[in-house]
Amino acid sequence: MTEGDLCELSISAAQKMLRCGEISAVELTNAVLERIRSKEPEINAFITITEDLARKQAQQADKTIAEGSAGPLAGIPMAIKDLICTKGVATTCASRILEGFIPPYDATVMERLNAAGAVMLGKLNMDEFAMGSSNENSAFKITRNPWDLSRIPGGSSGASAAAVAADLCLGALGSDTGGSIRQPAAHCGVVGLKPTYGRVSRFGLVAFASSLDQIGPLAGNVEDAAIILSVIAGYDPRDATSVDKAVPDYRTCLAADVKGLKFGIPAEYLETEGMDPAVKAAFEKATETLVRAGAQCIEISLPHTDHALPAYYLIAPAEASSNLARYDGVKYGFRAPDADGLKQMYALTRSGGFGPEVKRRVLLGTYALSAGYYDAYYKKASQIRTLIQRDFAAAFEKCDIILSPTAPTAAFEIGEKTDDPLQMYLSDIFTLSANLAGIPGISVPCGFTENNLPIGLQMMGNHFAEDSLLKAAYAYEQQAGIYEKKPVI
Ligand code: GLN
Repeated sequence: MTEGDLCELSISAAQKMLRCGEISAVELTNAVLERIRSKEPEINAFITITEDLARKQAQQADKTIAEGSAGPLAGIPMAIKDLICTKGVATTCASRILEGFIPPYDATVMERLNAAGAVMLGKLNMDEFAMGSSNENSAFKITRNPWDLSRIPGGSSGASAAAVAADLCLGALGSDTGGSIRQPAAHCGVVGLKPTYGRVSRFGLVAFASSLDQIGPLAGNVEDAAIILSVIAGYDPRDATSVDKAVPDYRTCLAADVKGLKFGIPAEYLETEGMDPAVKAAFEKATETLVRAGAQCIEISLPHTDHALPAYYLIAPAEASSNLARYDGVKYGFRAPDADGLKQMYALTRSGGFGPEVKRRVLLGTYALSAGYYDAYYKKASQIRTLIQRDFAAAFEKCDIILSPTAPTAAFEIGEKTDDPLQMYLSDIFTLSANLAGIPGISVPCGFTENNLPIGLQMMGNHFAEDSLLKAAYAYEQQAGIYEKKPVI
């Protein structure tokens, strides 16, 4: 096997080859590090590359494999969105304000990956504090879409999706507050799963909007996403919102059969203005594929869909303004030099340390929470959130899985939407309701535009129904079989 072939392996294939000694973890890790060396200058996915750590972990994985005590991800090279705390490795959230911050502890998901034997290649770029849909809000660099280097990879976990698509890792972790795993997965032609709120511990995930954030996997196919989810999911007493519910082996839930499954298509989603006809066509084709395979597709209604975006853009900034209050130059990272007194130090640190989008959200959120406007904005948005949750509950009385495109368009050009925040916010029109409702959602590739840009299909399931969601996604993936295409880089 050549080095290039090794980098293209799926996690499940690599697992088998590692177990039977056909390849070693060191060999696999070296091959991926070599690919990073040659392709990273084009993609710009990594903020930090942890080469020495990766080699050490790979050696350790080989040892456990030889001893027969290997964990489920032993020797699998993975990369991590840079807002998940990694002990001893800088965690920046792609922000200047965290300059020099080296977490003294691992996030729970990292502890779980480490215990499972995964190899960490490094930390991935993102929109600053996960606010954005294109990676253009990173303070450090713009990650490029491997399918077309002049385009964005999506966001905020854009580099997680790009790294998987470009074979710079076998799997990645991202986070999703309003679509940040699913939308980049769609734009880069990979699989991305946002779990149910409470399924995966948020301990050690730098908070953006605590009632919406979830960590989840990005991978080359549904089986690989299931393998990662089985490792990172589960109760954690250090996260008060983590739910104590058994974690199935999600991989054993997969079956290539959709017979009897009922998919609901929200009428409101298909009426969305600005949907690219290529996305609509790919979505219709995906529906036909499912019906041909024996599934049933029915029309459903999510009547409060129109209110999801405004509600999200009050709730998320409100929580962000409170979560980000801690970055004041005292406890973490950057502190503005030469300030004249404490108040000025706060002001200079925050205005110099945060980028424009983060400042916009802090201002919006502070306004929405202010005494005079709380009822009009924050309270109203919370009420809308309840109505959206009820819409989903009613929909799941009628169907097992809700089906929609993941994003209204394919990846756009770098710079195309930077001057128009509202256009940028519309990227998440189909994804953010799942966060408001706390339900799981997955994006799987379902076709390409004329320009060879990937299109994603979103499936949303009921709370804690990741097993049936993964099963449906896997079955679709098997039926559609569109994985032969690879980005040319
Ligand atoms: N694009 C959305 C936002 O900017 C969602 C981000 C996310 O899911 N982290 O808020």
